[in-house]
Amino acid sequence: MSAQLEISNLHKRFGGLVAVKSVSFDLKPGEVVGLLGPNGSGKTTVMNMISGALPCDGGSVRVGGKDVTALKPHKVSKHGVARTFQLVRPLPTLTVGENVLLSVAYSRKPKWGRAAQAIVDEKLEFVGLAGRGDEKVTNLNYIDQKRMEMARALAAEPEILLLDEWLAGLNPSELRIGIDLVQHLQGQGMTILLVEHIMEAVRALCSRCIVMSAGEKIAEGPSAEVLQDPVVIKAYLGD
Ligand code: ADP
Repeated sequence: MSAQLEISNLHKRFGGLVAVKSVSFDLKPGEVVGLLGPNGSGKTTVMNMISGALPCDGGSVRVGGKDVTALKPHKVSKHGVARTFQLVRPLPTLTVGENVLLSVAYSRKPKWGRAAQAIVDEKLEFVGLAGRGDEKVTNLNYIDQKRMEMARALAAEPEILLLDEWLAGLNPSELRIGIDLVQHLQGQGMTILLVEHIMEAVRALCSRCIVMSAGEKIAEGPSAEVLQDPVVIKAYLGD
């Protein structure tokens, strides 16, 4: 099967710091892959380059065979890539539904009016916020903010979803709900790249993991193997 997302020799420097050093990997359609590594290893920078939020200094990003490397986020979104952010940053003056509605415009097939509202309602229901579209975003508790963030990403009707620590900060029962939700997406065939520190979630969701350390890819393979790899354990624990 051809790759849905193909990252080749991605490179990024910030001044003298090489944050991402010639990183390559790909995701097949429907795969859920973990992107792991200690803090500062370059995971978010990779996500930012895939989604177009940061320009690359080298390398390429291909989605469904099309080169999206130099495109801005709204254009990458139209190629079927959506992401969630670690810190949920809704527009506070808009309602929950209006925040989700904004994403519909970034879909590959934008919709307006009732058709757009139908997407919003469907995504709010999917994440567990049915009937709460008229609430102020400032009323939402932490897990509901996470749900709204997911609904916003899904409203762009992506084929590839980039989840940047979407499960972080949830309590154990909320974590179960969050994992279930991602498993539902998995069941629908969504291709997912998951940056995540919670190993319970990685084990439950990811068939395969890629591990970064100090900007480089240091391991890649089936999750069970990678998580026991001494090189990976050393990278997490330090010397
Ligand atoms: P991770 O997501 O794995 O924690 P990041 O991608 O956030 O790692 O960061 C990788 C490295 O790049 C870190 O050393 C970080 O301090 C640095 N970095 C990230 N963003 C910037 C930026 N905008 N300017 C300067 N340095 C940055």
